[in-house]
Amino acid sequence: MTEQLRDRIQALMPQAKADLAGLVAMRSVADARQFPPEECAKAAAWVLEAFRAEGFADARLVTTADGSDAVYGTRPSGDPSAPTVLLYAHYDVQPPLDEQAWRTPPFTLTEGDDGRWYGRGAADCKGNIVMHLTALRALGDQLPVNLKLIVEGSEEQGTGGLEEFVPPNAELFAADAILVCDTGNAAVGRPAATVSLRGLVNVVVTVESLRTEVHSGMFGGPAPDALAALVRLLSTLRDEHGDTTIAGLDNTQLWDGEPYPDDRFRADAGVLDGAGLLGTGSVSDMLWARPAVSILGIDCPPVIGSAAALQPHAAARLNLRIPPGTDPAKALTALTDHLTASAPWGVRVSVAPEASGAPFRAATGGPAYAALREAMADAFGQPMTMLGQGGSIPLCNVFAAACPGAEIILMGVEEPQTLMHAPNESVHPQEIADMALAEALFLQRFASAATTKE
Ligand SMILES: [Zn+2]
Repeated sequence: MTEQLRDRIQALMPQAKADLAGLVAMRSVADARQFPPEECAKAAAWVLEAFRAEGFADARLVTTADGSDAVYGTRPSGDPSAPTVLLYAHYDVQPPLDEQAWRTPPFTLTEGDDGRWYGRGAADCKGNIVMHLTALRALGDQLPVNLKLIVEGSEEQGTGGLEEFVPPNAELFAADAILVCDTGNAAVGRPAATVSLRGLVNVVVTVESLRTEVHSGMFGGPAPDALAALVRLLSTLRDEHGDTTIAGLDNTQLWDGEPYPDDRFRADAGVLDGAGLLGTGSVSDMLWARPAVSILGIDCPPVIGSAAALQPHAAARLNLRIPPGTDPAKALTALTDHLTASAPWGVRVSVAPEASGAPFRAATGGPAYAALREAMADAFGQPMTMLGQGGSIPLCNVFAAACPGAEIILMGVEEPQTLMHAPNESVHPQEIADMALAEALFLQRFASAATTKE
């Protein structure tokens, strides 16, 4: 059965390429200030028709609070006792950014000498839309699960259209498993599910120490310099190894999934020769299992135009990433307490909270993950591994709250070489084929696992 499906998918790849080329040509950046909204409308209409043709007879557009349209549909199996799987993707894309940096036209799907297909959205997330379609086409009507579909139209904007839509419409999303297809494998051909996402807490910390600017010659020395106080305060957030040291936040946890090799991380992050990596843990520990604080910005006089004066106040915007198991409210309290307690020289410190988001850890012990492990192993010929992701996908927590009991699976065609969000984004066609096979096998296995259970 696996080989039959593999052959069918191979035969479907020219159609997958044509579909992806059509989708990439639509400049569906969900920001009317940058691209005409008709581009998003075209993409939504295309997705709707494509899935309607695969049996989602009731496919329709639903308008969300940020004004974007999501495509929603269902495909009942005819057996109401069969399990239900919700398929997710998004049809909007990041803007191309620096067009000069692209080696091929960003909105023309172009095959490179390396065999990869280049274009904005080729991987994130239009490649995953095509993956879903290819899996469904390969299965045809041999699909004993109930399917639901949601393809949103503003994921890259962070405006939360779908996140607001789901809770009051939770019944539309009720499912036994949710395939959030907006991540990828550990490498081309190395199957992986993403099981851990960091949460975040942002704050602005302000230091005040003088009534006004004063001459650094007349007062510098004894006068409390707010900028010097801020620098000292910020330096307490990390120790000499680069570990984040916020009182009350554990910075010793270990990552138990796929490791992230130092050399690959250095290359991915563009670390300069000679500059070290931070922290006493491995890259994966530091990135996926431990808190990490970053300084996003500082309010202070820029070098050009600065005077010989002491600053009466200074401020910094901080971004604290937190691993699964850490509550954002507790992390905010810990960060606030730490900053307040560490104020040097009696200067006034105030901390204003900004955005916060919860981390996510997938429950991997259920029947859907069991079916996925088998499907991935059969499709790729090697066992599936588990990845973390440093950023957050707030929708995962929204789904977890709205659909209790659903197993949430993050996977897709966005392996590390895709350069998603950057110029020269690409997808490896073999990943589309192999992931479509894994998805098809998963749907079959999950259906039969659930049926034998009954
Ligand atoms: Zn995406």
